[in-house]
Amino acid sequence: MGRTLRKTARQLVLLLFAMILMIGFGRMDILAKETAAKTTSLSKDSTADASSFEVHFIDVGQADAALVLCDGKTMLIDGGNAEDSSLIYSYLKSHSLKHLDYIVCTHAHEDHAGGLAGALNYASADHALCPVTNFDSKAFKNFVTYLGKQNIYITVPSTGDKFSLGSASVQVLGPITIEEDDPNNSSIILRIVYGDTSFLFSGDAEREEEQAVLDSGCALKSTVLKVGHHGGNTSTTYPFLREVMPEYAVISVGKNNSYGHPAEDTLSRLRDADVKVFRTDLQGDVICKSDGKSVTFTVERNADADTLAAAGKGNSESKQTAATDEKEPEDTRVTKAETTPTPAGTDYILNKNTHKFHYPSCSSVKQMKDKNKSYYTGTRDEVIAMGYDPCKRCNP
Ligand SMILES: [Zn+2]
Ligand SMILES: [Zn+2]
Repeated sequence: MGRTLRKTARQLVLLLFAMILMIGFGRMDILAKETAAKTTSLSKDSTADASSFEVHFIDVGQADAALVLCDGKTMLIDGGNAEDSSLIYSYLKSHSLKHLDYIVCTHAHEDHAGGLAGALNYASADHALCPVTNFDSKAFKNFVTYLGKQNIYITVPSTGDKFSLGSASVQVLGPITIEEDDPNNSSIILRIVYGDTSFLFSGDAEREEEQAVLDSGCALKSTVLKVGHHGGNTSTTYPFLREVMPEYAVISVGKNNSYGHPAEDTLSRLRDADVKVFRTDLQGDVICKSDGKSVTFTVERNADADTLAAAGKGNSESKQTAATDEKEPEDTRVTKAETTPTPAGTDYILNKNTHKFHYPSCSSVKQMKDKNKSYYTGTRDEVIAMGYDPCKRCNP
């Protein structure tokens, strides 16, 4: 009898101790969440322990870059062209995002992989996802080099893989097969679910990969679709749209690009499906927020732009030069710094057209068109890592 009592008393003491420990850890967890929310939350109105979800479709011209933020966790899906490295670097810096939980390179083309070096130059990362570990381009090699500096190896995800990003869940829907000679149709396709809202990122997947994903029978229905391949006509097919049934679509595309993206036919299919479209070429950065029930959008400019207007407007002259490669001629790019004098603290001026870099005092800079200029603050090695060569005149 006495023995049983002693045993019960011992069990009670242990239970009490365990409870104290649990309360303690619970508090630590809350504190950790608060710190995370303070450093990474972008919403002024979000409170420390309120859940939040945002996607920033960053305007990187004829390229893709989307930043997904959920409950203090961060994922960058693509980083624009190599020349966007400094833009991505500054974007992360201005939002104090020093850590990326996931960095995703949907496929190895430069307009997706190119700027990721800039992201890794500012932020540390935990995981890198890409359908390939090798690709013969300077941009991709830079990406791998910068991953290497942080001892990160590329993970090739498998279809069906699932992981969480804060309280959002991320599922890998593609690629079903990886074709080395067809990077677009080997794009990583991710579906992110946050509460009742969902987001589909399809990289540059074209009809072949769309069909493969449809055949796999996975759930595709999504509130927001990041339109595949910059709105090209070989993506966003009717069968795919019918399954995704998006309410909203975002097209990441460059103004007056030489491919004629987004294609008039794609816009017409989106119109038929009654989808509200946002476009980075017309509206700059597009930010989508979800409260778990519905989504809201804010854009950098032209909130009322007719985003379903025919692509032909202003694009028609350059349309016939549509090429098969991803790269667009640099002189069609429009930068936001068009009339800005050299900002104080600029270390180098980059020519986005020739891919040469100069000291701000170099005589070549005076002849450079404003739209080709990019002002860079940082080291020479960083500029070289972004794919630029030193000017032979000023030898920076
Ligand atoms: Zn692309
Ligand atoms: Zn591509």
